[in-house]
Amino acid sequence: MSPEPEDLSRVFGALVDRYEQELVHVHSEPDLRALHARFAGREGEIRRRLAEALREAPPAHKRSIGQAGNTALQRAEELFAARLQALRQAARARDLARTVDVTLPGRGRRLGHLHPLTMVRRELEAIFGELGFVVATGPQVETDFHNFEALAMPKDHPARDMQDTFYLPGDLLLRTHTSPVQVRTMLAQKPPIRIIAPGRVYRRDDDATHSPMFNQIEGLVVDEGVSMADLKGTLLHLIRRFFGPSLGMRLRPSFFPFTEPSAEVDMECPFCHGSGCRTCKGTGFIEIMGCGMVDPEVFRQVGIDSERYTGFAFGGGIDRMAMLRYGVSDLRLFFSGDVRLSRQFL
Ligand SMILES: [Zn+2]
Repeated sequence: MSPEPEDLSRVFGALVDRYEQELVHVHSEPDLRALHARFAGREGEIRRRLAEALREAPPAHKRSIGQAGNTALQRAEELFAARLQALRQAARARDLARTVDVTLPGRGRRLGHLHPLTMVRRELEAIFGELGFVVATGPQVETDFHNFEALAMPKDHPARDMQDTFYLPGDLLLRTHTSPVQVRTMLAQKPPIRIIAPGRVYRRDDDATHSPMFNQIEGLVVDEGVSMADLKGTLLHLIRRFFGPSLGMRLRPSFFPFTEPSAEVDMECPFCHGSGCRTCKGTGFIEIMGCGMVDPEVFRQVGIDSERYTGFAFGGGIDRMAMLRYGVSDLRLFFSGDVRLSRQFL
């Protein structure tokens, strides 16, 4: 005995009423969708009843049964949509209340920028680039040969004591200067050579003006007829381009095992222009580099004919140049990782 269409209409109505009552207890979107599927989904209660009734009903009733079913499904969809909207609005209101105070002033976006030492290194590379120097690099873990021996400092040489080396197992060490890059370049390449080698070096030293890790820049020129005048001209170009256009310089005789003659490079103090101040300790000059003509012994070690070729080399601290340029008094600030320092160099 199949039910009358009016009875079915009541059955569907009751199902939708129950759906509506249960909706009140649903507080999340997934729960809502699950409930909706249970009543009005493809496998839901309403469609199941509808299909059953249509199967059993006489043809004359099918149309009105179908209409009753559709009315119920349509109501269920409307209830679903209304509840979904209410849930989403409530979630949005909760989010806004929790995370955003729309009355707060906006926060500006901070742009990143390079570390001051990187900026100085790049500027130095550009300045030497103007003179045709190319950048050369080498390993920071070096062999004793490249760091000392090839630079005319055999194992018992007293100059090794000045360098407070970090030795590693085997014949290795952390390079104490960028000079091994000169050695590697001369072993790999025939003159003419014109390189600069910026990079990290290591020594057992730690105070306001020394760090166990610091940055050097090294230069090397080897060609026929290279003289001390070329060396001086190159360094004067550097000083005037980096520190100030009218600054003077002087070379003071010195000693390095791998250059002969050797000199310390003093530039005119950029703070007092030679009249004497605290930075230059009243002398009017500031020492910034060591330099000299490449010792023939070094050429012999790397197989370059010292009768035909001459060359000059120079080296100094990138960090020290950055300190002078920016008036930073404690070298360790550069390696502290403190962004308050970097932010001042925008
Ligand atoms: Zn001065």
